[in-house]
Amino acid sequence: MFMLKDIHTHVIPALPGSAVVCVGCGPLPQVKGHFFSAGLHPWDVSGCDEDSFRNLDALLSMPDVPALGECGLDTLRGPSPDIQEKAFVRQFELSELHSKPMILHVVRAFERIIYLKKTLNPSQKWLIHGFRGGPEQARQLLGSGFLLSLGCSAREDTIRSLPRCSLLAETDGKCGIDEVISRIAVSLGMDFGDTERLIESNISDFFA
Ligand SMILES: [Zn+2]
Repeated sequence: MFMLKDIHTHVIPALPGSAVVCVGCGPLPQVKGHFFSAGLHPWDVSGCDEDSFRNLDALLSMPDVPALGECGLDTLRGPSPDIQEKAFVRQFELSELHSKPMILHVVRAFERIIYLKKTLNPSQKWLIHGFRGGPEQARQLLGSGFLLSLGCSAREDTIRSLPRCSLLAETDGKCGIDEVISRIAVSLGMDFGDTERLIESNISDFFA
């Protein structure tokens, strides 16, 4: 998994093993050499039942599913915060049980997710995907132990403010990964190849 450069997408990449493809609650596509994440998106958790969690549990026991996600909290869309949070906590338990990190979708619920991390005290890493906030919010989240991944809408001042060891990249299926890496490289005044290697190394640390 150490050539991964796109930590979150919904599209199977041309190059097997270069991206973590989110498959929701499955089933896994019948393709070889790819990596997947499985999870219940906060928009879709109103219909979740025990079968959904059993299904997720089975997916997480597979070696080509190294992460749980995307799951999380979204106050702008989906069912009530209460329903979203219950499903989130169930998934946190599965993440701990399988020792697999979580990829989070968080929209306008940062205070709550910081509170949950503090109270649940996970041993697994929590990565907020598609981070579009400013440097101050990024600093607060990193300080609370979250990881952030940056997509095509990441702010340039935020990119520049992050420690280099905290740079992770994703497409979310919305653009090409080279476009995202190149944007990060330009923002930092770095060479494309060096930036690509840095991101690969940071993603490999995420799964270490
Ligand atoms: Zn996504």
